[in-house]
Amino acid sequence: MQYIRDLKKYYWPKAPQDAVRMLMQEPYAEVIAGGTELLVSGLKGREVNNLVDITRAGLSYVKKDKKFIKIGATTTISEIQNAPLFKDFANGVLSTAAQRFVSVQIRNVATIGGNLGAAMPSSDLAPVLMALDAKIHVCGKEIKEFAINGFYLSKRKTVMAPYEIITEIEIPVPADMDRTGCAFQKIGRTETDIAIVNGAAAITIDDAGEVKSARLALGSVAQNTIRCLEIENGLLGKKLTKKAIEAACENIAKAIDPKTDVRASAKYRGTVAKVLAARLIEEAYVKAGGKI
Ligand SMILES: Cc1cc2nc3c(=O)[nH]c(=O)nc-3n(C[C@H](O)[C@H](O)[C@H](O)COP(=O)(O)OP(=O)(O)OC[C@H]3O[C@@H](n4cnc5c(N)ncnc54)[C@H](O)[C@@H]3O)c2cc1C
Repeated sequence: MQYIRDLKKYYWPKAPQDAVRMLMQEPYAEVIAGGTELLVSGLKGREVNNLVDITRAGLSYVKKDKKFIKIGATTTISEIQNAPLFKDFANGVLSTAAQRFVSVQIRNVATIGGNLGAAMPSSDLAPVLMALDAKIHVCGKEIKEFAINGFYLSKRKTVMAPYEIITEIEIPVPADMDRTGCAFQKIGRTETDIAIVNGAAAITIDDAGEVKSARLALGSVAQNTIRCLEIENGLLGKKLTKKAIEAACENIAKAIDPKTDVRASAKYRGTVAKVLAARLIEEAYVKAGGKI
């Protein structure tokens, strides 16, 4: 825990562009949303004298049209958990991940933008958003859009410049929704702890039950949440069986680089990752209508 000892200014911008202007003007300024990461472990030796609080910048919303679901960056984890839209969409996978997100006290203030901006490998939302192929909208000197797969550079580091902020997360509605299955799973020391390993999968099948597309993302097994592309490719065009899933996950060690920390050893994480990947694929395949 590191405190801000010399806070000089606290801003409440009314729009994202105002927040960017304040971040560019003020030295040692930082964006704050729920503050559950920044004020607990997010400072990491950085000097911060000015905070730009974006929770009144008009970025708390969930919208849906025919093609996309759009989530404003300051939407809280509780709002995502309880939004009727997310109870149904993609087998309720976002709602499930939000529900497994620590305690109600944290969920009520922590935001989706803060979760992605913190760039921690244990993020519970990042694997789901990777499985759903989400895009991240960013406001800075100009408006930018990034695929979430490629948004992270390393632990605590994203492709964003220091004065840029996430404004919106955009999730495409799959064209063949009724043949797409999604799953989220998390293994922690307790029900409310940060993940030892977490992950999400989205699988689309054709009429014959063969896999048309597969996305599998795992968290807490590398510097950032990762897509397991080799495993995904190993599923394509196949009718899945337990054996086929096991075979696809056999070489998972090549995709991950787990670390030892207070929650688990690297070895345990590696073992759990293989089991979790297989469970996620099976769950998503069955939810897509596949038979195992
Ligand atoms: C006890 C505890 C338990 C936790 N358990 C979990 C858990 O189970 N699962 C999980 O995923 N996380 C967990 N976390 C981590 C944290 O709560 C989440 O990452 C949370 O979503 C962060 O959101 P926030 O709004 O509080 O971010 P903040 O703390 O306000 O910000 C986090 C970082 O992101 C930056 N930031 C904030 N908003 C934006 C934006 N819109 N654009 C760009 N950068 C931005 C900030 O500058 C800061 O660097 C836990 C934290 C604590 C303290």
